[in-house]
Amino acid sequence: MSSLAQPSAIFHRSLNKNYEKAVGGDGIYIVAPDGSRTLDGSSGAAVSCLGHGHKAVIDAIVEQARKMAFAHTSFFTNNPAEELAQLLIDQSDNAFTKVMFLSSGSEAVESAIKLARQYHVSRGEPKRSNFICRKYAYHGNTLGALSAGYNPPRRETFEPLLSPAFHHVSRCLYPQDGREGENEDAYVDRLIQEYEDMFTALDPSSVAAVLIETMGGATLGAAPAARGYLARLRELCDQHGALLIFDEVMCGMGRAGTLHAWQSLGNVAPDLQTIGKGLGAGYQPISAILVGRQVHQVIQSSQDKYPFVSGHTYQGHAIGCAAALATQHTIIKDDLLANVRQMGDLLDRELRKRVPKLKEIRGLGLFKAVEFATQPDQRIAANIASTCLTNGLAVYLCSSAVDAVLFAPPFIITEEEVHQLVDIFVASTNQVLQEKG
Ligand code: PLP
Repeated sequence: MSSLAQPSAIFHRSLNKNYEKAVGGDGIYIVAPDGSRTLDGSSGAAVSCLGHGHKAVIDAIVEQARKMAFAHTSFFTNNPAEELAQLLIDQSDNAFTKVMFLSSGSEAVESAIKLARQYHVSRGEPKRSNFICRKYAYHGNTLGALSAGYNPPRRETFEPLLSPAFHHVSRCLYPQDGREGENEDAYVDRLIQEYEDMFTALDPSSVAAVLIETMGGATLGAAPAARGYLARLRELCDQHGALLIFDEVMCGMGRAGTLHAWQSLGNVAPDLQTIGKGLGAGYQPISAILVGRQVHQVIQSSQDKYPFVSGHTYQGHAIGCAAALATQHTIIKDDLLANVRQMGDLLDRELRKRVPKLKEIRGLGLFKAVEFATQPDQRIAANIASTCLTNGLAVYLCSSAVDAVLFAPPFIITEEEVHQLVDIFVASTNQVLQEKG
């Protein structure tokens, strides 16, 4: 791909960088003005699950735009929003009874935090204002979501955040964070004890919720909850009357090979769940909160006294919902989750076989991270990600907490394309290792 010929007028997040221009999309490829193609190996940031230029989704968007683009949710509901909400409820093993649509993952996390507060206020426990979250989590960029997360480089400039309400326990990264001789059960025991201690330190009756990513994504790179971890956390939250919130903005909506990642991790359902990214596959900005029966019933029963006074102009946007509905129908009709599992296994095998200087491959389905065995001052992932881009492959660079890149290709990827992805990745890795000597 060639860079822009003249300086950009956009306030990019990195003002000194020359961004490539994308003008087209075709299946799993992004197309540049000169016609060169880049394999979208991470679907941006685990977004474009149907790849680019998908006809059924585009048709649904156009059709909805013609019928009715926008009607404010203070006054109206709309067909695609109603249908999409019902579909998500029907597909979720009876875990949820209501859905709230928003526009971004950060908005969904903010609203989930507020919903959790509202739930306790409605139950007559307004003192429950604390949230227990995890170190090295990423929950979004708005101030509340940034406070819930804990990725130091993203937070530092903006400290102090809204942090008094947010408390962080250890990340979950097994086997890496296991101690000498500690098996997975003992590791989980230790982490759960840390939650228990945090509940005690805060006073359990002050805790509104535990909020975690079911699989650590942007920061740690596809780190699934350890075996038994979610079930133990569920028990602990129930014991203390706190809600359990899963943030599946990145790892959810089929990416792990099941609709929700928790369905692959012991089938432990949360009280509230945030989703985004793959929900609308990037064709429209859309996210959602899936609301469990208990939360919905409590809030509904005290609506007159405590209405949920939180809304965003574009929530439940008809075109966004139409795009997401067409995305989800396509995934079901084409049985794409089976492809996610099969191609995920192939990707895993090929990476394991061929990537040099490998420390670990982790993840589920088409959500896989490669971490390199390097010393902190010898890191290579950033170099590899930029060399891959030059060589026609986009992969997502994880945070500085790990020397890793994330793969999250579109669900439609074929066997041949998986091999092409791995070929470019391995060649780029070797190129960087050679240059480093
Ligand atoms: N939550 C998780 C787990 C994420 O990975 C992200 C984005 O990467 C967000 C929330 C924020 O989503 P958005 O960037 O759409 O605001």
